[in-house]
Amino acid sequence: MEKQEVLKNVFGYDSFREGQEMLVDDTLQGKDVLGIMPTGAGKSLCFQVPALLLEGITIVVSPLISLMKDQVSALNALGVHAAFINSSLTEGQCRRAMAYAREGRYKIIYAAPERLETEAFGELARQVKISLVAVDEAHCISQWGQDFRPSYLKIADFIQGLPVRPVIAAYTATATREVREDILCILGLVEPTVLVTGYDRKNLYFEVKKPKDKSRELLVDLQRNPDKSGIIYCSTRKAVEEVQCFLQAAGYPAVKYHAGLSEEERRRSQEDFIYDRAPVMVATNAFGMGIDKSNVRYVIHYNMPKDIESYYQEAGRAGRDGEPAHCVLYYSGQDKRINEFLIEKQMEHAELPKEDRAVVQERSFDRLQKMTFYCFTNDCLRDYILRYFGEYGGNYCGNCSNCQTQFETADVTEEGKTLTECVRSCGQRYGMTVIVDTVRGADTAKIRQYKMKENPCYGALAAVPVYRLRQILQYLLLQEYLQVTNDAYTLVKLGKNAEKLLAGEERLQIKFPKERETSAGGARKKKSAQAAALTEEDEALFGRLKALRMQIAREEHVPPYIVFSDKTLRDMCQRRPGDAQELLDVSGVGAYKAGKYGQRFLACIREG
Ligand code: ADP
Ligand code: MG
Repeated sequence: MEKQEVLKNVFGYDSFREGQEMLVDDTLQGKDVLGIMPTGAGKSLCFQVPALLLEGITIVVSPLISLMKDQVSALNALGVHAAFINSSLTEGQCRRAMAYAREGRYKIIYAAPERLETEAFGELARQVKISLVAVDEAHCISQWGQDFRPSYLKIADFIQGLPVRPVIAAYTATATREVREDILCILGLVEPTVLVTGYDRKNLYFEVKKPKDKSRELLVDLQRNPDKSGIIYCSTRKAVEEVQCFLQAAGYPAVKYHAGLSEEERRRSQEDFIYDRAPVMVATNAFGMGIDKSNVRYVIHYNMPKDIESYYQEAGRAGRDGEPAHCVLYYSGQDKRINEFLIEKQMEHAELPKEDRAVVQERSFDRLQKMTFYCFTNDCLRDYILRYFGEYGGNYCGNCSNCQTQFETADVTEEGKTLTECVRSCGQRYGMTVIVDTVRGADTAKIRQYKMKENPCYGALAAVPVYRLRQILQYLLLQEYLQVTNDAYTLVKLGKNAEKLLAGEERLQIKFPKERETSAGGARKKKSAQAAALTEEDEALFGRLKALRMQIAREEHVPPYIVFSDKTLRDMCQRRPGDAQELLDVSGVGAYKAGKYGQRFLACIREG
């Protein structure tokens, strides 16, 4: 049979997609290959077609039991004899599968990397001819990748132990340079054909928003897309529950999906979504693997994901049919902190040696940082993503929120210098909030505790709005004038370009979105400037204080505003009183209320 026949007769397709044919040809000719193609591009076919044409057996290494099961069932359904060997099989099943393999009943065997080292597998490998080893999800071999699997490192040993070196084919959707180099080097590919295809999805519109109120923003976005199918990704199960509940209350038929639901519930949600009975799916990243729904018109990230790889994969589930679709990311500082927390927690359980763990963790933080920069860049978003994956993007796509926003360039050299100087003069010991609060001359508990009022930069940028200060700070990080540490406490330090800036050798020009001049815009600006007076950290405390207020209101059967007004709570956030005396300085707190509620509010502030 020829490859074209296999494609048609076995898989039922008329033609190869971009890149596939070349990878198939080279594999058949005995060349090692590395295929880097986005999710859904059709990587499996690139090794399955040669597997059926080559003489011996093909071993496919895959990291997940569910992926192996899927692919083997799909092959079996096509009439191809394939099997998987992993920890989901009993010992008896495993032995039988090996015996069948020895008899030549399978052309393709999927195996988990841990299996390769076992005695039984080694024996099998000596008895049969292995023509091709395909490493699926090959980024798992790299500590730079988003799902590093130490067991992937064993693949190379397995291959070296084989009597005849087979062809090696590696496939992944992760295309960063570091990952690519790790794959080539660790797997020991010999003069491989490396093919990177089509990361750009021109029909997708990319947008980043930083809404003060995400749920309200969501309603606005959904109103623009009535009845259309869309996915809303949240970072936690709790957020999924809340958002889904909120959307249902607002009259949207939304279903939910996360790992905490029963298999039956998940199946039902997924079907309701796929069959368009429920157009909106609210889900964690547990949803989407293997989902090929083509008419998803928007993917909204209610929280920022942990890295660009995850983001592009999830957002990429929009517009598979090639029609225009929207990918919107709602950023908040909280999202970054949750991700930091998760990276730290995840590392506690890893089976890696300690030093490796530190390296992996550092790289996770690094990817998170690049994800965060995506939310702050004012340049073309598509270009940012494509460059991340090592492709050339051009600087202007015309189809992302940055390319469609009018910007004006401002010189912020002085502001940048002051921020950098502030970091230097306080000994590079504090986080971003303290730096911003210092230059704007805020009077918070931390500012007092760290004696920042004595810092030469204290209040030096009081005239600059806080949101602008944060933009400048992000730019300083992006351009490596400053950097942040990746410890439990994110501290701001001087970056490699700091000296040039401090010495006055460089000017800083930043693109800011043009502020609208209409009267309505003016009114909004004023209001948002007021709201922006709270820092992100203050916002978080404000939320907790409101919750406490609600609890007290329930206990006393009074409306919350009777306990304290919003204004009072806001003032508390800014002043962060440390004791009863300071509490009395807060607007709206008299002796009576201080006596009655003081201890509980002070405790709440102390926790924050
Ligand atoms: P990847 O591993 O790159 O994410 P898959 O190998 O799972 O992608 O393939 C995604 C889908 O595309 C599958 O449904 C597959 O059958 C289909 N597909 C692959 N190649 C072709 C082709 N040449 N023509 C049509 N459909 C294809
Ligand atoms: Mg795949």
